Amino acid sequence: MTEHIKEQIGYLVKLQEVDRRFFNLTKKLDKIPSTLEELENGLKAFEEQVNRESGTLDELKKKYRELDALIQQNDAQIKKSKEKLGLVKNNKEYQAILKEIEEIRVRKSEIEDSQIEILDDIEKAEKQIKSGKVELERFSKETGVQKMSVLKENEEIQGVLAELSRDRTGLVGNVDPDFLKKYEKVKNIVGILAIVRVVDLLCLGCHVNLPPQRYNELQRLDSLQYCPNCHRIIYWEKDKDGSE
Ligand SMILES: [Zn+2]
Repeated sequence: MTEHIKEQIGYLVKLQEVDRRFFNLTKKLDKIPSTLEELENGLKAFEEQVNRESGTLDELKKKYRELDALIQQNDAQIKKSKEKLGLVKNNKEYQAILKEIEEIRVRKSEIEDSQIEILDDIEKAEKQIKSGKVELERFSKETGVQKMSVLKENEEIQGVLAELSRDRTGLVGNVDPDFLKKYEKVKNIVGILAIVRVVDLLCLGCHVNLPPQRYNELQRLDSLQYCPNCHRIIYWEKDKDGSE
């Protein structure tokens, strides 16, 4: 009986190690879709930013053209006013038209000042877009490399999981069905750490000391034992250095 229990505990510990690795790798695998999504969203946000800047540039150019049209209107008005000058009958009218022409010129000059400011903004926007596009290109390449690496990791994890599944099938073949059932039951309740060592009197699952009497039972190895505190399967083995 003792040897049988010892052997079975050995299998359960190995099984738990396989299950633990499987669990951790599955957790890693579960994060991959969101990692890929984050990478794609980052790139999309960058592209949108460059597009927004291009939109701003288009707006500036449009505004510049509108001011051009206004200047032409003003020129036409000035021309018309000048024609009127030749037809005036008295000095008062003449002065009034001169004043009108002057006012139009002032407006035209203000519009031209605005155009100069817009040209300055256009130049700045063009520079920004140019460097933005260079940066976007670099970022896009970098994101591509990161995505490839994540996909490669995904593939590697899938491979290891398949290997672990095979290992588990092999191990399970050795485990007494009754012990396996007990292990699975505890695992379902307490999680991945279902079988733990006891060192001195300490349960390594919950770090609470066992009553000394339980420790003796544990050392006898005549049945599967449970921690009275955390209900994990517990086992005792001689320390590697030989002390007990
Ligand atoms: Zn415990």
